[in-house]
Amino acid sequence: THLTKNYYTDAGEVCVLKGVDITIQSGEFVAIMGPSGSGKSTFMNILGCLDKATSGEYFLNQTNTTSLSKNDLATLRNTVIGFVFQGFNLLPRKSLIDNVALPLVYAGVSLHERRERAKMMLKSVGLEPFGTYLPTHISGGQQQRVAIARALVNHPKLILADEPTGNLDTKTSQEIMQLFSDLNEKEGITVVLVTHEPDIAEYAKRLVNFVDGKIQHDGPTTRMMEKAQ
Ligand code: ATP
Ligand code: MG
Repeated sequence: THLTKNYYTDAGEVCVLKGVDITIQSGEFVAIMGPSGSGKSTFMNILGCLDKATSGEYFLNQTNTTSLSKNDLATLRNTVIGFVFQGFNLLPRKSLIDNVALPLVYAGVSLHERRERAKMMLKSVGLEPFGTYLPTHISGGQQQRVAIARALVNHPKLILADEPTGNLDTKTSQEIMQLFSDLNEKEGITVVLVTHEPDIAEYAKRLVNFVDGKIQHDGPTTRMMEKAQ
C-alpha cells in the first residue's frame, strides 16, 4: 500500500518507488516488466523482505511487515519465501546437494534430514544423479534448476524470481518457465517474476508493468500482450 523507496546517494536523494499499490493473491502467477531502472528489483527486494520500503505498508499473509524487527523479517523470509536470481548465486565450492540444503542450515534442520530433503528436491528438478557435482560441472540451465530446488527446499508459499532466465538460451528458458508453471498450477505456489522478455512473461497469468517507479499497467497477460502489439 503506497510503497515508496528512496535511496541516498552522493548525488542526493533519489525516489525509486513512487507509491506502488498492489494486491497479489495466494496462488497467482505474476510477471513484472518495465524499462531498466524502473524499480522492479527494488520492489522485489521489498516483497522478499530483503529490504524495507521508505514509506507505505507491506502485508505478507496477515503480517504487517512494516514494523517487524530485522530478526523477525529474516524468519518470515526463511519460512515463507524462496528466491531465484538471474546469476543462480550457487556456492561454487559446495556440491549440488549442499547448495540445495543451505536454507535448511538456517532453519536448524539436522544434517541427515537436510541431505535427504536436498536429494528429493534435486530429483524433483530432474538432477538426482548429479548431487555430488560442483555447480561449475553442470550447464547454466541445470544450475538454475539447482537454484530453484534450493528455493523450494523450505516449502515456500511464495517464489520470487528476478530475471531467472536472463542468462539462459531460449530452449532452456522455456524449460525453466515450464517448471515455474507446474509449481504454480500443480502445487499452488504463488510466483512473482521479473523479466524483460514478452515470451517469458506470457507464462504468467497476470502482467504488471513498471514505469519510473510506478505501476503503469496491471492486468491479465494475454490482453496486455495484444494491447502492446
Ligand atoms: P533492471 O531492469 O536494469 O534490473 P530495475 O527495474 O530492476 O532495473 P532497480 O534495480 O530497482 O531497477 O533500480 C531502480 C533505480 O534505483 C535505478 O535508478 C538504480 O540505479 C537505483 N538503485 C538501485 N539500488 C540502489 C542502491 N542501493 N543505491 C542507490 N540507488 C539504487
Ligand atoms: Mg532489476
